[in-house]
Amino acid sequence: MEGKTINNQIKKVLISEEQIQNRVSELAKEINRDYSGKKIHLVSILKGATIFASDLMRKLEVPVTIDFISVSSYGNSTESSGVVRIIKDLDHPIEGREILLVEDIVDTGLTLKYIQGILLAHKPKSLKTCVFLDKYERRQVDLKIDYTGFIIPNEFVVGYGLDFAERYRNLTFLGILKEDEYT
Ligand code: 5GP
Repeated sequence: MEGKTINNQIKKVLISEEQIQNRVSELAKEINRDYSGKKIHLVSILKGATIFASDLMRKLEVPVTIDFISVSSYGNSTESSGVVRIIKDLDHPIEGREILLVEDIVDTGLTLKYIQGILLAHKPKSLKTCVFLDKYERRQVDLKIDYTGFIIPNEFVVGYGLDFAERYRNLTFLGILKEDEYT
């Protein structure tokens, strides 16, 4: 591992930086249109969604504020349990506000469903969800997603905020790791 450049560890670029930036611009356009005359309070889920949320919010033209929530899945398996523990709660109340929840990736959907439930319990005026990536074929629960960046196949991806063992979040593109990087 030592001495390898990041790009040597990537088997394939799944989505290029240019494709990502174009898609984020398209999403922002849609969101600007849908929220015209309103204010958006973004709720970004730490840590994976931070890069996406910061690119997206810089392209929004309506008044926007941001807050962060951090959750961790119960249990130690790599499979999502759907029950999450709040590690860092929101700093500001969301009651009566137009909330746009921003997440990096939805897989089984269990985590996002749980977080949507937590937010709805605080009675926002509206709650919409924007995900960068959707592994649609893996979905286990019915989920309302309002904006989706890309639907991707069932492969483990890194980059643009997504990590493997806390690494690779800083890649500007979305990639698939070489198998030997897992071991
Ligand atoms: P879900 O509850 O939808 O099954 O799990 C979603 C969470 O699993 C995401 O927030 C993310 O942390 C993790 N996850 C799922 N697929 C991937 C992937 O391909 N790459 C990375 N880095 N994380 C993933």
